Amino acid sequence: MTDPTKGASMLQGKTAVVTGSTSGIGLAIARALAADGANVVINGFGDKAEIERLRAAIEAEYGVKTLYSPADMTKPSEIARMIATAEATFGGVDVLVNNAGIQHVAPVEAFPAEMWDAIIAVNLSAAFHAIRAALPGMKRRKWGRIINTASAHGLVASAHKAAYVAAKHGLVGLTKVVAIETANDGITCNAICPGWVLTPLVEQQIAARAAAAGQTVEAAQTALLAEKQPMLAFTRPESIGALAVFLCTEAAATITGAAYPIDGGWT
Ligand code: NAD
Repeated sequence: MTDPTKGASMLQGKTAVVTGSTSGIGLAIARALAADGANVVINGFGDKAEIERLRAAIEAEYGVKTLYSPADMTKPSEIARMIATAEATFGGVDVLVNNAGIQHVAPVEAFPAEMWDAIIAVNLSAAFHAIRAALPGMKRRKWGRIINTASAHGLVASAHKAAYVAAKHGLVGLTKVVAIETANDGITCNAICPGWVLTPLVEQQIAARAAAAGQTVEAAQTALLAEKQPMLAFTRPESIGALAVFLCTEAAATITGAAYPIDGGWT
């Protein structure tokens, strides 16, 4: 995106780390930041050859440098190493997008304790560890953009998503604290709160609903949307990428501590 106050991309020559960017929303954010000129560190799980194909495609399409970090977001030491490697390779981390996330759906009393721990680790604690590691460099360079992929579930609750809703509300809270602490350091910290986006994370939920209700996948998709979202359409991952790019512009320099719904009227 061309910056309205600067007339040129803000991200040229800058470096972005996007966690959970081998798929879905994170991949779209990584591609949008790269399209605006940022070198990107992609991260997440998946087939090695497919990840290499995604990484090479970003370099080829946008003429930026890329790096793949296999860091597991449940492991604080691997998160710290991912940030250190990005800094050593590219000279700094200017944009940090905490996006990796997992889901599990069950009533509280049947919620497996290990799934609770895993969801809190990936969806909440990983953001703390990454921010903690990236902030000193951002403060030294007096510029930084931290974007946390929260959710409509960071603002409102739904049944059977105890860990996810708790983690995403926690992530919105962390966003506000970091925004206050960095308010005069040239750094902003915001959360993006999507409603339904058709990615593997949601496709799993739709398949489970279709199987449980004996419905087609299409009928289960419509039912899922109709339950929560006045607008009966999925948000496109590319739209979330565009919002992330906007939050990196000079025009967004005083937007901090915000939790932006992009949810078809859900919240
Ligand atoms: P996705 O399943 O397509 O992508 C999740 C990404 O996280 C993948 O790259 C995966 O490999 C990575 N990941 C999972 N566990 C990891 C770990 N331990 N370490 C490193 N990477 C890990 O899902 P998505 O829908 O693109 O979700 C991305 C983010 O958006 C999540 O935080 C999710 O909660 C949030 N979100 C999604 C929706 C939606 O409707 N899809 C709505 C609101 C918020």
